[in-house]
Amino acid sequence: YAAKRSGRGWALYSTEQDRLGRADLSFRSELREAIRNDELVLHYQPKIDLHTRRVVGLEALVRWDHPVKGFLSPDRFILLAEQAGLIGALTEWVLERALRDLVRLHHDGHLLHAAVNLSARSLHDLGLPASIETLLARAGMAPDHLMLEITESAVMANPSDSLAILTELDRMGVRLAIDDFGTGYSSLAYLKRLPVDEVKIDKSFVLDLATNESDAVIVRSTIDLAHNLGLSVTAEGVETQDIWDTLTILGCDCAQGYHMARPMGLNALRQWLRTSPWAGGENAASQVLSP
Ligand code: C2E
Ligand code: MG
Ligand code: MG
Ligand code: MG
Repeated sequence: YAAKRSGRGWALYSTEQDRLGRADLSFRSELREAIRNDELVLHYQPKIDLHTRRVVGLEALVRWDHPVKGFLSPDRFILLAEQAGLIGALTEWVLERALRDLVRLHHDGHLLHAAVNLSARSLHDLGLPASIETLLARAGMAPDHLMLEITESAVMANPSDSLAILTELDRMGVRLAIDDFGTGYSSLAYLKRLPVDEVKIDKSFVLDLATNESDAVIVRSTIDLAHNLGLSVTAEGVETQDIWDTLTILGCDCAQGYHMARPMGLNALRQWLRTSPWAGGENAASQVLSP
């Protein structure tokens, strides 16, 4: 403390503060420019129906194609976007782009739904449902082709505003999913109060599902609970055939993971939709015939 109070201590401290402050400021303006200049990119990960083995939807996952730092994953900038007050603009960019791409895919004949992740901050924004209604109308997209993913912890951070926002979105006909299910605190009590359609089991319970007995117990109970509440279940992090098989036995509805498809850009996705067996594409027959 004494050292901090000396002239030199304060000088060091404030220099450090300045440096961090400047870094934040430049990051903030860089991100604002990135949103404006379309430096953000959406990758789409297919979501596969475990019963029909066909793609039924896509999850939009944002990346930042940074001119110096290269491709940045959302874990490196979503939180900072929230702190910088830019998450509203980012979310709007993601929604607008995802709906535009979805319209194009529908024109191609792929009648999929698209899921967009909402940040915790968005559940404080009581204007969100109206903004989404406008974006849907502008894109000419039916609301039930849009799914919004929210986390348990985001809901718990602001239960009353969240409930109001989610209730309004549900009334509009937008579909809602609880993401990263099982990682939050109070999974059960509020689940029946929220107007959600789907539960997404966090990949931390899925990655070792085929070999870890306690993961299997957790996933089995989650599926049963969700089904008893009338909700469908998607498992994330399906990396192997064994996990796929286990989920099928447990009665899970949908799956996402590297075993079926990684997140990919729009052009790669359109190619995938034409050729992948999961999309009923032309390689479907050759895969069946190959040994
Ligand atoms: P999430 O919504 O739970 O997304 C699933 C993450 O798991 C994605 O990471 C995805 O690429 C990854 N993943 C998919 N399949 C597999 C697999 O088989 N194995 C493994 N190990 N991982 C798999 P990503 O794209 O880095 O996104 C991380 C998180 O960033 C997302 O988690 C989501 O919470 C957030 N995020 C992504 N896009 C957005 C966005 O547009 N807005 C907001 N607010 N958050 C976003
Ligand atoms: Mg998600
Ligand atoms: Mg609903
Ligand atoms: Mg997740």
